[in-house]
Amino acid sequence: MENHNFSADQINLGNSKELRNSPDEVPITVAHGDGIGPEIMEATLRIIKAAGARIRIETIQIGETVYGRGISSGIESSAWESLRRTKVFLKAPITTPQGGGFKSLNVTVRKTLGLYANIRHCPSYSPYIFTKHPGMDIVIVRENEEDLYGGIEHRQTADVVQCLKLISRPGSERIIRYAFEYARRYGRKKVTCFTKDNIMKMTDGIFHKIFDEVSKEYPDMQSEHWIVDIGAAKLADRPEEFDVIVLPNLYGDILSDVAAQISGSVGIVGSANIGENVAMFEAIHGSAPRRAGQNMANPSGLILAAVQMLVHIGQGDIAEIVHNAWLKTIEDGIHTYDIFSQNTSKEKVGTSEFADAVIMRLGRKPSKLKPVKYHDQSKPIEIMLKNRPKPLKQLVGVDIFLDWEGDPDTLGKSLEAISTPELSLTMITNRGTKVFPGGLPETFCVDHWRCRFQSKEVNREVSNENVLSILSKLVSSGFPPVKTEGLFLFDGQPGFSLGQGQ
Ligand code: NAD
Repeated sequence: MENHNFSADQINLGNSKELRNSPDEVPITVAHGDGIGPEIMEATLRIIKAAGARIRIETIQIGETVYGRGISSGIESSAWESLRRTKVFLKAPITTPQGGGFKSLNVTVRKTLGLYANIRHCPSYSPYIFTKHPGMDIVIVRENEEDLYGGIEHRQTADVVQCLKLISRPGSERIIRYAFEYARRYGRKKVTCFTKDNIMKMTDGIFHKIFDEVSKEYPDMQSEHWIVDIGAAKLADRPEEFDVIVLPNLYGDILSDVAAQISGSVGIVGSANIGENVAMFEAIHGSAPRRAGQNMANPSGLILAAVQMLVHIGQGDIAEIVHNAWLKTIEDGIHTYDIFSQNTSKEKVGTSEFADAVIMRLGRKPSKLKPVKYHDQSKPIEIMLKNRPKPLKQLVGVDIFLDWEGDPDTLGKSLEAISTPELSLTMITNRGTKVFPGGLPETFCVDHWRCRFQSKEVNREVSNENVLSILSKLVSSGFPPVKTEGLFLFDGQPGFSLGQGQ
């Protein structure tokens, strides 16, 4: 590789001119964000431009200033236009306003642009960055759109609020295939799946089932599944035993921060959010408002996110130069406060000086840490989903949720009297536990009751009109529903769970 050794200023001036005139430059959208965002973005852009990134930047405003103008989504329509035009987004962290009325902009951007895969690489940089786990090298592949992040929440009674957990078959298949394809491309050996399907047998169950199905297509790859609680404990204790981990959204959100932190710091991990058409690259940490404007923050997370972006836009050559220079800087002990240690660091620097140090090392490789190589890996990973026949779907009953105060037996007896020829009460649960018939007085109950109505002949198909007539009878008898869920069979198999204790 060419060994250039320029000063930061020389490269800066030289490249900004060159960039404006370069014909093969790729348009990208950049948001400078809130808190420490502008400082780490300035540092990152300076480095990648100095390395020769062939990019043309469109700057958009998102976050605090936009929320401040009364736009509750935190993003304006002109910003969406830029994102849809460039299809590549380098984003600094933003501050999510506290309180109701504001949606998380990060979730909005990921979901609106269909960024289904969130990739976070958490290796150890031991001994240069302190970690208790020098052997760890984990890639977290997190499902990015589904699960509890639909933000579909309702207060249904005085006592009870609800958040819907949605897991889809294609959403799960896409992320699981992505994890296996990623593992293959980057020469990894094992893919681990975490779920809680001993409890959530249907939602987490489908994720696990698809993992088992897809893993059979990758006989070259080891695969394993852990229940997320013990899996998380093992991850925190012996991370070197994991390689690629694929998880549903919430577990991925939590455990990718754990993985990043135990690798050294949340400040040194970048993430790629990949969709079919658009991709977004960001640090995993937030806007750290208390550090803002002090030239203290570690820009490494965003720098490594920019490296992933360069690979994504086919500039693996530049990505490699930046990443190796960053590794060399870390190895040389030039560290920001968050990773500074008397034992391993040589110089404590600010954000801007850290960027200068990386720029000074462009073209050099680390000698102890393993240098990276990206040349052959520039094509985005493409995922094809399996065509599946639509299952036969039959309505066989309805769960009707009531807001009611009293004891389960009184409710049960009243509802038994309300049955129709097609549908009658088979069970009542309170927060999922069966309380009628045959409940125990010890079970604590709140004002939210799930009342299951099915045909007397188990699993006999009923009509929507049958459901409407039981609903109408309930309303006229003084039991207005707060919501209903249809009970369906899919190819003859129940698409609903039993009550706890049923
Ligand atoms: P945070 O990640 O901003 O900060 C957590 C801790 O890590 C703080 O002690 C902070 O000083 C430190 N830290 C974070 N990044 C650092 C860096 N680059 N260098 C050195 N130290 C760093 O998390 P938080 O305090 O929970 O959140 C602050 C704000 O950021 C909130 O408004 C939150 O909603 C938002 N946030 C945004 C994103 C995003 O834009 N992608 C992600 C997470 C949080």
